[in-house]
Amino acid sequence: MKNVGISRRALLKTAAASSLIVGAPSIVSAGSLKGGPIGQGRAPIADGSMMITEFKNTKIHSYVSPNLTGCVTTHIIETPARLIIVDGQRSVIFGQQIREYAEKLGKPIDRMIVSHLHPDHWFGSYQFRDVPLYSLESTQSEIDALGDYFIEISKPSLGDHVPIEKVVPNKIIADGSSHSVDGVVMEFTHVTDAESDNMLTIFLPEEKVLIAQDMLYNNCHLFCGHGNFEGWQAGLKAMRKDTSYDLVLPGHGENTGSRQAIDDALVYLEFVEAAYAKVDTGDELKAAIMDRYPSYLASSLVDIQNLFLFPKK
Ligand SMILES: [Zn+2]
Repeated sequence: MKNVGISRRALLKTAAASSLIVGAPSIVSAGSLKGGPIGQGRAPIADGSMMITEFKNTKIHSYVSPNLTGCVTTHIIETPARLIIVDGQRSVIFGQQIREYAEKLGKPIDRMIVSHLHPDHWFGSYQFRDVPLYSLESTQSEIDALGDYFIEISKPSLGDHVPIEKVVPNKIIADGSSHSVDGVVMEFTHVTDAESDNMLTIFLPEEKVLIAQDMLYNNCHLFCGHGNFEGWQAGLKAMRKDTSYDLVLPGHGENTGSRQAIDDALVYLEFVEAAYAKVDTGDELKAAIMDRYPSYLASSLVDIQNLFLFPKK
């Protein structure tokens, strides 16, 4: 009997490595009823992690970077015949790993979409500079104006992760527009005054997925450098009320439990807004945040945020 047990375990291990693992029952039941995700599993990648969510006709491969660059996500939407990449990482090294992963899927890269100005979402798009690069018009202007500055200030801490030059989006996405690529529909919304002043969210109605990017963080410190507490909270409350999606993909952290992360984010923003009003220095704000959220990842984002909340005079 002992041998049977061992071989069964080996069989299960082989099955897990070679195919998708069926996800949490709630996800499966949602998917089998009326669209939405039907399973989730993981795939190996050198640094960071890769979660694959499977739908009827498509898959979404969600990469989360190591903590070093802030657990930032890139999502590869795999249609029957093409690939769409959402966001390009803070690192050309991790960007290259995603490029190699995408190449192995054996389908042409139709486009990359950059959700907003912050460099953790476009530094690595340097490795995709040969494919059409889409963004909001405001994001295009912001990266064009500030890209070189972001590259210079990032070199001391990130070194080889930083691109040698900026890559400015060359295709425009309009607010309220919808694009169809190989039968997969994407509906775009321009969100203002939240984590960044201009942000893009992408809704996939057939898959019932909201790609929220930095409107939502999961188990990571939220970047509050713009001080748009009220606008961001309003956006999250609207997201919480929205029942059109089964799965929301965050810009930092894992996909799992990301509906719950909306509530967590609202509490976090309320806490930081109140703490910011009380303290005099960035060090005090960081101490208060770390005391309240000791287990959150991406603490380097708190340091960057404080450069903006407490500018040197
Ligand atoms: Zn970010």
